[in-house]
Amino acid sequence: MHKPLETRLEINLSALKHNFEVIKSHLKSETKIMGVVKAYAYGSDSLIIGKALQDLGVSYLAVAYIEEGVRLRKGGIQCPILIFYPQLEELSQLLEFDLTPSVYSFYFLKSLHQNLKHQSVKGFPIHLKINTGMNRLGFDKHQFEDVKTCLSDRQTLKLKGIFSHLAAAGMPNEKRFSLEQIQSFQSAVKVFEAYASHDLTTHLCNSSGILNYAEAEMDMVRAGIALYGYGNHPKEHKMLKPVASLKTPIAQLRWIVKGDSVGYDRKYKAQSKRQIATLPLGYADGISRIYGNGNGIVKLHGKIAPIVGNVCMDTLMVDVTDINCEEGDEVLIFGEGHSALDFDINQLSIPYELITRISQRVSRIVIDK
Ligand SMILES: *Cc1c(COP(=O)(O)O)cnc(C)c1O
Repeated sequence: MHKPLETRLEINLSALKHNFEVIKSHLKSETKIMGVVKAYAYGSDSLIIGKALQDLGVSYLAVAYIEEGVRLRKGGIQCPILIFYPQLEELSQLLEFDLTPSVYSFYFLKSLHQNLKHQSVKGFPIHLKINTGMNRLGFDKHQFEDVKTCLSDRQTLKLKGIFSHLAAAGMPNEKRFSLEQIQSFQSAVKVFEAYASHDLTTHLCNSSGILNYAEAEMDMVRAGIALYGYGNHPKEHKMLKPVASLKTPIAQLRWIVKGDSVGYDRKYKAQSKRQIATLPLGYADGISRIYGNGNGIVKLHGKIAPIVGNVCMDTLMVDVTDINCEEGDEVLIFGEGHSALDFDINQLSIPYELITRISQRVSRIVIDK
């Protein structure tokens, strides 16, 4: 029997397609979709996912940094790319690689204008970011007049998009707050419409917004975590499929007896005879030490096994006493059939963090089934 030899992250494109269709089914047919592929497409691979999403028909892709956008362009991506957090040092690359910046501060607005003017560029597209309650990035209401002034006498820039971000769209008990954010955003759009290009695109919803606030659809939605198969609330995960599955073979199996310990600092001590499997992945691969000592649960042969002792840098150990298994057998850390939420049994983090942390030393393998 052929056995897998290494730890790998499988990227299932048919799951991505399924999630894309689920998202679409929540939207009006004319609503555009922006696929968010920042942070290596949530820890998978931004180029593979970016290309797949382009083929599925997204109107935009989005990344956090200019460098991430450059990587997409160099890989052949042609659709518009929005940069959420453009860095001033890399401004020249916006133009060179046809990347659209989010503009959220006067400092950035002025620097961008100067830079473009210097190169005699006119009508460079930007998306204006409005703060409606997240209090992270974006212009506040009291700044709107000044923003308008800036936009009206700057031919360098063209207002192609206006957007904001919902802070708690996945929290049913924050519905009032979310509705207020939607209202504030709609008012902001009215304020800036006159300064925008005729093909202005407004967007507000992230994944939870898409699934919970149809009234906030606007012209486009920004889909991130839902594309990758997760939501922010149990009812959101149900219809989605995890795209990334982290798998690894058993490196070694051994039986230990009562009183024996496992791993650094002897954090696990056996109360009885146990069978322990060592898996070749650790915190350097993205499985945080917080998942040691029973906080992480893996799956093999359809049964679950808890992590015992501390997670090491390159390895971790699981208790497989009740599972009939051999060295080389495949273990699912998380993914299809055992989601990131099932792995993170005590909900010490969120799927976003778990999946984005899988390190680059883990091979990525594309499957389509
Ligand atoms: C990351 C991000 C998204 C995607 O959010 P999800 O919850 O993953 O859908 C949308 N908008 C902005 C501004 C983001 O930074």
